[in-house]
Amino acid sequence: MITSTTGPQPADFADVRATNLAVVLRFVREHAPCSRADIAASTGLNKATVSSLVADLIDRRLVRETGLTENRVGRPATMLVLDGSPYAAIGVEISVDTVSAVATDLAGQRLLTWRRSFSGGESVNQGVAGVGAIVRRVVSRMAKEERQVLGLAVAVPGLIDVQGTVRIAPNLGWHDADIGGDLAKALRDPGFPIQVDNDANLAALAEQRFGAYAGASDLVYLSGEIGVGAGVILDGRLRRGGRGHSGEIGHVQLDPDGPACRCGRRGCVEAMAGIGAVLRKDLSPAEIQIEIEEVVRLARADDAEVLATLESVGRSLGKGVSILANLLNPEVVILGGYYVPLAPWLLPAVREEMASRVVASDAGGCEVVASTLGHDAAALGGAARVLDSVDSGRLPGGLSRIP
Ligand SMILES: [Zn+2]
Repeated sequence: MITSTTGPQPADFADVRATNLAVVLRFVREHAPCSRADIAASTGLNKATVSSLVADLIDRRLVRETGLTENRVGRPATMLVLDGSPYAAIGVEISVDTVSAVATDLAGQRLLTWRRSFSGGESVNQGVAGVGAIVRRVVSRMAKEERQVLGLAVAVPGLIDVQGTVRIAPNLGWHDADIGGDLAKALRDPGFPIQVDNDANLAALAEQRFGAYAGASDLVYLSGEIGVGAGVILDGRLRRGGRGHSGEIGHVQLDPDGPACRCGRRGCVEAMAGIGAVLRKDLSPAEIQIEIEEVVRLARADDAEVLATLESVGRSLGKGVSILANLLNPEVVILGGYYVPLAPWLLPAVREEMASRVVASDAGGCEVVASTLGHDAAALGGAARVLDSVDSGRLPGGLSRIP
């Protein structure tokens, strides 16, 4: 931890203070209720610095004193918890048929979850107008609750570059679209940062912060929407690759003679293990939900044809997951989207394939599980990304820039 500005490359004092504020904020998030002395003991910051940083965080209403005391040797201490009541983080997920919006407070508690229908055939302009409309309503609701919006992150199913430009979102028919910039204009420069990211990336962040494997440092989220993509977290951080296009496991070829894929190639993971392979017909997104329910009903009734299809899809999925496990050795691969209701029938075949295909014993310790976050995972992940920004030092109030 940097606590001094001396050294060969002196850090800017304001940066040091912002970094240390973030360190204290993260400590309170993870260990609350805790005392100033706990923070000093664990972070290595001296007590006077901790007192000053805590006072700053209390001023910004990011942290508050609970009034609770804990008897220690010496005198009782005032305990600190996250406050964040005047703040909200917003995540939005654009999918082919719906736009979902989630708002959370600083602690990650959900404040609202809204959904509206959305036509995948909408142009970028219509799409941005639709997303802008729902965001305006969320912002206005947050204003009524006297909450300041810390930021907005939008999940888009497609290739998003590191600047947040949508390079291609095949199922939306969008390409080379600056959704963030367009949205800022539609919202008339709302005064909070807008980020755009791939849906699987944001869902992975949601799992890392809120899911059954929260805190896992090596985790892969596999989206089971119309497309199949992976959000990859290694060593605790989302890995986007050089241009932001990592995680395209859906277009790794399993069989050169396999079925045609929407990408123009053959035998991709998406073509063999995506929802299209389960349903084997072209359906509108609204129909898919109904069809999946029917597949679940038939599987429960031991329908031989449906069970055979799910086993075959599970085997292909297992081949794809084995590639991830051999390459990345994650602690867990989390199946999301439409994979969740089908998981009881897919997982046995997935695990069998992994047992024979992953070189490391016990599949390298890699578990495969169904997501518990539901269809809003990527929207929730948008809020998680905003909270990550705060935790890494982008604090509201701008006081961090003042030494
Ligand atoms: Zn493909």
